[in-house]
Amino acid sequence: MGSVYNTARWKRLRCVKLSESPLCEPCQRRGDLTPASHVDHIVSIASGGDPFPPLAGLMSMCPPCHSIKTSAKDRAGGKGVAFKGCDESGKPFDPDHPFFNRLNNRATLVCGPPAAGKTTYVRNHRKTGDLVIDFDAIAVAISGETGLKRATPAELIPFVCEARDALIKRLRRRHDLRHAWVIAAAPALADRHPLAESIDARIVVLDVDEQECERRIIADPTRVDFRARHIDAVRSWWADYVPEPPHTPLEGPESFRGRPMEKEQTQLVPTRDWSF
Ligand SMILES: [Zn+2]
Repeated sequence: MGSVYNTARWKRLRCVKLSESPLCEPCQRRGDLTPASHVDHIVSIASGGDPFPPLAGLMSMCPPCHSIKTSAKDRAGGKGVAFKGCDESGKPFDPDHPFFNRLNNRATLVCGPPAAGKTTYVRNHRKTGDLVIDFDAIAVAISGETGLKRATPAELIPFVCEARDALIKRLRRRHDLRHAWVIAAAPALADRHPLAESIDARIVVLDVDEQECERRIIADPTRVDFRARHIDAVRSWWADYVPEPPHTPLEGPESFRGRPMEKEQTQLVPTRDWSF
């Protein structure tokens, strides 16, 4: 790490940052004008941050603010909230505050009936290092049997639920993930909203119609033994389904209110890719 700070590249970047933002940014958010002499990585190099990020990834600071941040982080094992308090819009001073997980849309809850294409949707949007919380994948992982993909035996279900809930619980705390994806049937608002809110997720509902889901289930060789069960599950999903209410309009890119809803047309994909 020390080597980064000795490079000509860092020294140049530091100068550019201090000339762009000559005042201490935490002080400025509290309304104080203090000259900055330190340049801090918003995502530390130790936690995987880019050593030479764009200027927005750096923060100009005065020495006292910098040492407050450093000691708060050290006390909390690198995960502390360094700056307490919020500005007048309710935005925390500390750029590492978990509040910003939501701003950055760092989690997505993907919902829909069996064969709607939830797993495919996540596969097409995820990137390396993302977390994917998928009931079926957990069942496969804890049973050692790939053949379970489409039907988890009843006696395994409580273990799968507990493993999934442990991952969701961990997701509620501060983390360094780029993005987390949670796959759930969740037909009712009462299923979707508490979960989405607890992990600051945006919601994607793949509301593929009943006939199309049934067609896919019948065409899917991996579902051949579970057709009736999966078609039943599609019917009960549609019976319980409550669409998202129209969301409150966003008030510009700085707004934290509202939860943009995305509705996707699911394209045709190979049958083996459709998730339960
Ligand atoms: Zn300061």
